[in-house]
Amino acid sequence: MSQPIVVTRFAPSPSGELHLGNARTALFNWLHARRHGGRFLLRIEDTDAERSKAEFTAQLLEDLRWLGLEWDAGPGREDAAAPYEQSRRGAVYRAALERLEREERVYPCFCSTLEIEVSRRAQIAAGKPPRYAGTCRALDAAGRAARLAEGRKPTLRFRVPDSGKVEFVDLVHGEQSFSCSDLGDFVVQRADGSAAFFFSNALDDALMGVNVVLRGEDHLSNTPRQLLIAMALGMSMPTYGHLSLITGDDGAPLSKRHGARSLRQLREAGYLPEAIVNHLFRLGHSSALAGLQSLASLAEHFDTAHLGKSPARFDTVQLDVWQKEAVHRLDPERASAWLRPYLPAELAPDVERAFVAAIQQNLILPQEAAVWAQVVFGDAAPTSLADPAGESVAAIRAAGRDFFIAASAVVREQGADWKTLTGALKERTGRKGPDLFKPLRHALTGSAHGPELAPLLLLMGGARVIARLEHAATVA
Ligand code: GLU
Repeated sequence: MSQPIVVTRFAPSPSGELHLGNARTALFNWLHARRHGGRFLLRIEDTDAERSKAEFTAQLLEDLRWLGLEWDAGPGREDAAAPYEQSRRGAVYRAALERLEREERVYPCFCSTLEIEVSRRAQIAAGKPPRYAGTCRALDAAGRAARLAEGRKPTLRFRVPDSGKVEFVDLVHGEQSFSCSDLGDFVVQRADGSAAFFFSNALDDALMGVNVVLRGEDHLSNTPRQLLIAMALGMSMPTYGHLSLITGDDGAPLSKRHGARSLRQLREAGYLPEAIVNHLFRLGHSSALAGLQSLASLAEHFDTAHLGKSPARFDTVQLDVWQKEAVHRLDPERASAWLRPYLPAELAPDVERAFVAAIQQNLILPQEAAVWAQVVFGDAAPTSLADPAGESVAAIRAAGRDFFIAASAVVREQGADWKTLTGALKERTGRKGPDLFKPLRHALTGSAHGPELAPLLLLMGGARVIARLEHAATVA
């Protein structure tokens, strides 16, 4: 018999912007589906009307597309299992819940939040794991009717078997076993009539044919409850893999404090999707694969057997290493588009192309181009030359006034050509190596490092180069 096709999904709750942890979950599910020639679904878990926002959903779709993680079915790509927004699946949940009600697998619970909190605290104080005490489990029809008559709005709770175990094998954590007696009856329908997470999530996975779920470790303890729901409905359950937490370099869960930003913020800062997916690929997933890889190549090398249990450390320095490599490989058209917001508006297309080519290899983020645009197209002298204690002034003074007078004379006579300039200066001043290049670089750009000077000089043009050299002569 042939193996069923692998179906994975990403099921975000649109209650905020997509962060790196969720982006990694999406990526791993996408990679796993691609690796096995399967399908990747996108389901929006927006049953919590208060916390879910349409703009977060829109942002999510945009972020996923930007990362390159297109879905085979989901919002905007409906198939027979649609809709893929849980807020539109109320009737599906209702029908399944009615069935469970008829079979007495669920019961109405009238306990208030306060009553539950009091019971929870009492259990904790008694050193027991807190779980629903079962107060409403034994209510008879009259008891229920009386509470309804008081105007109480019940939730529906799933009746967890009193004894027995729920067992499953997790792709990351191996064999798992939970005692039913520890689980407590849990809510499957909220008091406002909407389906609760455990229920809608488990039911939808079954109805949508999802057979592999990679998701955050924080959901591991939810899994036995979800298995109980699927069993009660006679439905099959996916195989789960619970991904290790992503932490900052201090080992604490990743947060803003670690420089972690939402996908939108990273994109707006100029990070490239290639850099992000390459970093995420190696967070909690070990791989011998070196160098920046395409999504297709990452998919080829993704293996759930390589998912690790220990927390994965997010590292902005490492992200920047990938970013540098991604920038390095941008083709001219994408490089120009990436930099355009930071380029002078009036550049002729060929000048823009030459400028981008000249600076691209020196950039990590696009706003750094503004500095080089100022160097190449600006008329003001580099600001570092106004700092008498700075290294530019020191380097210029060490070369001396005559050096710059000679340099500007060469450019006047022979144009702004780097090779000609350095060749002639070497002859006239006897300087070579760093003694020759360093003061020139400082005088022309105001800094010790940067892109190759030859193409910059061409773009700057004679007048600007002469003005800089003459200004340096006054500083020296
Ligand atoms: N909506 C849940 C979340 O964002 C989905 C969990 C799951 O992937 O099953 O955490």
